[in-house]
Amino acid sequence: MKFAISPFAALVAATLALPAAAQTIFPIDRADILSGSHFDFKVEFPGIVDPATVTVTINGQDHAKVLGKPAELIAREDGKEVSSLLLRDVSITRPGAYTVTASDGVTTKSVKWNVYATPAKRAAKNVILFIGDGFSIAHRTAARILSKGLVEGKYNGKLAVDEMPYMALLSTAGTDSIITDSANAAHAYTTGHKSCVNALGVYCSRAASTLDHPKVETIASIAKRRGMAVGAVTNSEIEDATPAAMVAHTRRRSDFNDIVKMYYDSKIDVMMGGGSPNFLPKSTPGSKRNDETDYIEQFKQAGYALATTKTEMFAAADNAKTTKILGLYNTGNVDGALDLKFLKKGSVPKFPDQPDVVEEMEAAIKILSRNKNGFVLMVESARIDKYSHSMDQERAIYDAIMLDNAVRKAKEWAKANGNNTLILVTADHTHSVSLVGTVNDESKESELRNRVGVYEGAGFPNYPAPDADGYPNKVDVSRRLYMAFGSSPDYYETFAPHMDGEFVPAIKNAEGIMVANEKHKDIPGAVLRVGNLPNKGSRAANQGVHTGDDVLLTAMGPGAEKVHGQMENTALFRIITEALALAPQGKAAGK
Ligand SMILES: [Zn+2]
Repeated sequence: MKFAISPFAALVAATLALPAAAQTIFPIDRADILSGSHFDFKVEFPGIVDPATVTVTINGQDHAKVLGKPAELIAREDGKEVSSLLLRDVSITRPGAYTVTASDGVTTKSVKWNVYATPAKRAAKNVILFIGDGFSIAHRTAARILSKGLVEGKYNGKLAVDEMPYMALLSTAGTDSIITDSANAAHAYTTGHKSCVNALGVYCSRAASTLDHPKVETIASIAKRRGMAVGAVTNSEIEDATPAAMVAHTRRRSDFNDIVKMYYDSKIDVMMGGGSPNFLPKSTPGSKRNDETDYIEQFKQAGYALATTKTEMFAAADNAKTTKILGLYNTGNVDGALDLKFLKKGSVPKFPDQPDVVEEMEAAIKILSRNKNGFVLMVESARIDKYSHSMDQERAIYDAIMLDNAVRKAKEWAKANGNNTLILVTADHTHSVSLVGTVNDESKESELRNRVGVYEGAGFPNYPAPDADGYPNKVDVSRRLYMAFGSSPDYYETFAPHMDGEFVPAIKNAEGIMVANEKHKDIPGAVLRVGNLPNKGSRAANQGVHTGDDVLLTAMGPGAEKVHGQMENTALFRIITEALALAPQGKAAGK
């Protein structure tokens, strides 16, 4: 008699055949690890383990032999029914392929690491990494249209970023999602490891505390160890994810108070942006700290010049003795270029003497270049992203022009100073922005949507000729660019620049539902656009979101020739470390 297998029995058999939950190992499978860089090693077991049955080997040897010391077995991590092995702050100096195998006597899990060396000699003395937050191809094209103009389809000039010889597509997905945020995206650049949304300088483990996750070392720390100067300048709050990725190790990017401490502990030489409240002791009016530490005073004691205005910043930078500076120019984000230079909206009336990103960078280079060992500087034009979230196209485009101005100044500086600076310009992720055409107010159509010109109807916009910095002095022209935002909450489309301040597309109503901001409802011809993002619950969106398209990386200078084709965002870290030869050399490399 033959056995007949019922569908039910087959299902049971298939279920039983599933492997039991296995260990999770950090760093994760296929991690590329810079030789000599520091990291935390962690193995998470799915249950409580008997220490006698646990083995963790690296290339067949006991892990303690390879990593220099044995990991600690935590019998009940965070009081839960799970055990972990943890070994903090280790490094591997000998380059090569490593297979890490962890067994609890029942299940076995292996991951592979690639530990890489760097050339013996530095190709570059300095590295400047520009990050246009959310800087997508449409922003770049729009910046070129406004800054250079075109005649008969050909541009009258190129952006500074256009005239760089090497380019690649970078893929930005994280360990948890195809869509990244500014935290794990910048983390990929500053550590060379993939991580998850909201994480900075750590892998995302099951640790309960945001500060307990397995750390990986940042470029700032590695460069400082080599005696180089390090800086991060931005027009976001300095604690915000992109600049914080230079120094921070936390699972939660909003740990601003901890991030200020991490800046202090990192002792990087230049840090500039907004976000002063998290530096002030709790008892000071306006403080956002939950302790009495006065970080302004701490930084001063540690030898930092303090600048709260553009005037103070340049005065400090011009002083040949200044080698360290903390610049905090706003309680929130520094205003973007359109408000700073033309409209004077946002917080410009309150903070009339803020530097823009170009000026921050110029002061930073002046100070950092006093270090004879060279420098690593991150320059972020942060509000391209923020204004793309709020679907404020003019403000986003002006900040893309500002980014390009900074790139132009950096290129000029590099040319005048030895041509030994690697310049990298990229974004951390994209937004769903695209140039659809123009809006033409000279059209006699009464409905605004019928003033949108597409194909030959778009023609060319009529912005005035730009000023010396590439900015037209008027955005509310009669034939203007029309940038469409592909992800949105419900909002009123007005087909016009927001002259009175940054656009606020949606707000939460009394029932907790995200609805279109009625402020724009009565603008003649405004069109209610029904959104395509969640409008209730924890994921309710009051603005546009990031997208998972690849970003462009553009590069020049020594080491830039490695930028080509399609690369993972983590490859950018390796390009920097190779240009600067940051791996230990000779005997120190375990050779
Ligand atoms: Zn964003």
